Amino acid sequence: MEPYEVYAIRYATMARRSAENFIGGDPHDIATSLDYFVWLVRGANGTFVVDTGFNRDAGRRRKREFLRSPAEGLALLGVDPASIGQVVLTHLHYDHVGNFDLFPGATFHLQDLEMQFATGRYMANANFAYAYELEEVIGMVRNVYAGRVTFHDGDAELAPGLSVHRIGGHTLGLQAVRVWTRVGWLVLASDASHYYANMEQGRPFPIVIDVAKMVDGWRRLRELASAPQHVVPGHDPLVMQRYRAPSAELEGIVVRLDEEPRI
Ligand SMILES: [Zn+2]
Repeated sequence: MEPYEVYAIRYATMARRSAENFIGGDPHDIATSLDYFVWLVRGANGTFVVDTGFNRDAGRRRKREFLRSPAEGLALLGVDPASIGQVVLTHLHYDHVGNFDLFPGATFHLQDLEMQFATGRYMANANFAYAYELEEVIGMVRNVYAGRVTFHDGDAELAPGLSVHRIGGHTLGLQAVRVWTRVGWLVLASDASHYYANMEQGRPFPIVIDVAKMVDGWRRLRELASAPQHVVPGHDPLVMQRYRAPSAELEGIVVRLDEEPRI
């Protein structure tokens, strides 16, 4: 099986206190940040973008520090969003599905349950609806009608060495992505674990619909990866420290994930 290259592109960040990252807070309440990423997976069997990030307007409304458009980040890796045929949406939260309009040629891979959740009864509750942008959900419904969404129900292989796996807890239909690389099976956890600490210390992130399923999800992520260090969390600034930039110009912007982490 041909290995894929995997890159994390950091496009935004937000300062926060560590107590906000765990149910029940954090006894060492320290200043930290929450980073925002999209991911690029490419190899002989295809090029896939995993999530599309949020745009400048959404960042301003929600007071996030927008660093660069995810499209600019992809361009730095020689990828034109218009040329992308396959986008995996781990879930429909605003920071994962904004900018889908920058991918006019893409099919979007989504779990059945995520669309049901984002258009169903729970969206009448602000706690659940808060992280969705109504216009983006509607936009994705339009893509369904246009035949541009491929739905999955649980585990599915999209190409040799690349598969999606539904992980409950954060939303109803989040999916993680498992990729075959030169260091073995790598898992992009997305928000199944925002930080390394959530899954490694067993402390759930507070944006959650089912704590028990989130806990089960961490075990599933570890099962899917060749080694625990190859589970990559969705928002941890440590990702930028543990992995290297592919070139000096990309320092602080892109890291390559199909390597052994430095720490
Ligand atoms: Zn997120």
